[in-house]
Amino acid sequence: MKCEIVRDLLPLYVDGLTSEVTSKEIDRHLKSCKECRMYYQEMAGEIPDTVPISEEELRDVELLRKIRRKNRWRVIGLLAGGFLTAAGIFCLMFPLSFRQVRYDEVKIDYGVRGNTAYCSLETKPGYEICVSGESRENTMDIKILSVRKLGGYAKDNKADKAEWENVIGTDEDPCRWRIEFRDKVIVIENGQLVEEKNL
Ligand SMILES: [Zn+2]
Repeated sequence: MKCEIVRDLLPLYVDGLTSEVTSKEIDRHLKSCKECRMYYQEMAGEIPDTVPISEEELRDVELLRKIRRKNRWRVIGLLAGGFLTAAGIFCLMFPLSFRQVRYDEVKIDYGVRGNTAYCSLETKPGYEICVSGESRENTMDIKILSVRKLGGYAKDNKADKAEWENVIGTDEDPCRWRIEFRDKVIVIENGQLVEEKNL
């Protein structure tokens, strides 16, 4: 069979539309003719079995892969490193900035104004006070969380103040503030200090 005829028939052959006899003829031709075989492989979308890659090319591919892998680890390393650094700083800073405050670190003032009791806590200039608390009826539990030194723009040397006010209650049901410091708990009832306990 001539090459031109084989190539004319190849589209049909690829789709399996050639007769048995023709297919056998084409098979025979493809076995013996390298050019038609390549033509056929291209048409059939077959990748030739033997991919000619030299040793050198193989090494290059391997090297490229290694570099990529190395870069990937470097990126992961950087991310992990950054994360650990941030976590470390956070762990170091958190107890420093949020450690509970000692009794003598704030100025405390309490008393009565008319029919209201008041209580206030004041920081040193340039510090910020952070409190948490919960109240139920006339009683309020206050926890002094931290006194934080303000830096940068906030250095206007103003003191921070936390203040509470409430109508004075009866002796049986007084307006009551329980204030917890790191080293001490104090209780103020109707504007008077009634309890002081070291922790
Ligand atoms: Zn041929």
